[in-house]
Formats: sequence, structure tokens, C-alpha cells
Amino acid sequence: MKFYLLSNFMTSNCWHENLITEYDKDWDRKEDDPLYPRFSRDQGPFCPVCHKNMRHLYPLSPLRREIHVAKPYFGDIVTRGAEVYFSDRAKIIYEESDLKGIEKFRKIEILKVACHNGVRKAKLSPLPTYYWCQIAVDGATWDYEKSKAVFSKPDPIICEYCKDYKGFIRGYSGLYVDESRWNGNNIFELLGIGGKIMVDENFKSWVECNNLTGANFIPESKTSLDLNAESLRSTIEKLYDGFTE
Ligand SMILES: [Zn+2]
Repeated sequence: MKFYLLSNFMTSNCWHENLITEYDKDWDRKEDDPLYPRFSRDQGPFCPVCHKNMRHLYPLSPLRREIHVAKPYFGDIVTRGAEVYFSDRAKIIYEESDLKGIEKFRKIEILKVACHNGVRKAKLSPLPTYYWCQIAVDGATWDYEKSKAVFSKPDPIICEYCKDYKGFIRGYSGLYVDESRWNGNNIFELLGIGGKIMVDENFKSWVECNNLTGANFIPESKTSLDLNAESLRSTIEKLYDGFTE
């Protein structure tokens, strides 16, 4: 089976064509304000071996968001790392399909449309209703040997099931799904490497047949990461230390 990293399109001057983020003004609220953007870190599923939660960030209601548009359209599928949003059109077509991997749709509220890159709000089509998609975290993981993963510390201790480890990944060439761990879902979150949603060929052709916009499919062999440049490495290491202290 061929797999693809689900991503979005970038303009030539590096804007995301479509991007959905938390509603900016909500970050100014106090943390005990129910409208402060909140995430649960203890939402299952949990790893049967090391018992860590495998779905790292689960957004709690209310799901208040804003959309950024740098090309004059509202995408049917808008992604940001492990977050995936579907328009109502994409949701309806998905529910009529045989595809598997989206466990739940939760309606989001879009409070702001921010236009960039010369896009004019008045010329945009009406804003669709959007849904946050709960994507399966079903044990599918990556083949870090095939991907030639380079870890921040040599010989890391990696959980045999969820592939969790202490440290971060400094590089890989190609992001390959471990086929022995694939459970047949057409869309799923990859364990062992944060924020990567993978889809199979059937998902990709479903998107293309239905002319759904916004989804960019990057073949496994074409995704790579290289944080080996010395300056970049020290920056990331400092950041990482900040997180773990
Ligand atoms: Zn584990």
C-alpha cells in the first residue's frame, strides 16, 4: 500500500493557503476562563506497554477557531500537524463513503477570517461549516529504521508499541509507515513521531474523485527532516530543554 503524509498547500511566498488555528483573542483570557483554549493531555487511547497517552493533545469544547486564507478559497480539508478539519461538504461525502479512520466529527465555531497574500474577503465564497476530525490513533507507527531516523541521543530507549522515547528526532529521510502495524484505516495518526497524519491511496483517490480542495499528499519518500545544521540544532535543543524542565 502506498501512504502519504496529509498536508496543506503553501503559496510560493510561504503562506499556508488555508490554516485553522485557535481564536487568537482567546489566548488573552485567564486560564480559568472557560473560553481559554484548552487541551486535555490525558485522553486515551493509552499505550498497552508504557501506559502513556498516545493522543497527545485533545481539544476540549468550546472549539473556537479562526481561519487564515492566503489563496481565494476555503479548503474542504484543512490540516495543521495532527489537526484535521473537514468542511460540511467533505464530511457528508466522507460519511457516504467506505473510508475508515475518522472516529468523530466535532463542529467548530469560526470567529474570524484573516486574509493574507492579497486575498480579498469580499470576493470569497461563503464560509463553510467546519468540523474538527478525531483521527484514529490505532497503533499504526512508522518504520524508523527504513526512514533512517536520527535521534537526538544515541541508542534511545524506544517503547516497542507506541515508539515513544526521550528526546527528539533530528532527522529522517522518508517517512515510512510500518506496514506490519497498519490496521487498514484509510487515515490515521502515526505513532512515534508527533503531528503526522497519514492517509492511504484510497483516501487520496477519494479526495481527487470528489474534487475536495485543500489537501496536499506528500509521498512517504518525499518527506524528510534534517536538523543537523549546528545552529538549528542548538536552538532546538534549548527549546526542548525548556519543555522538559
Ligand atoms: Zn508505549
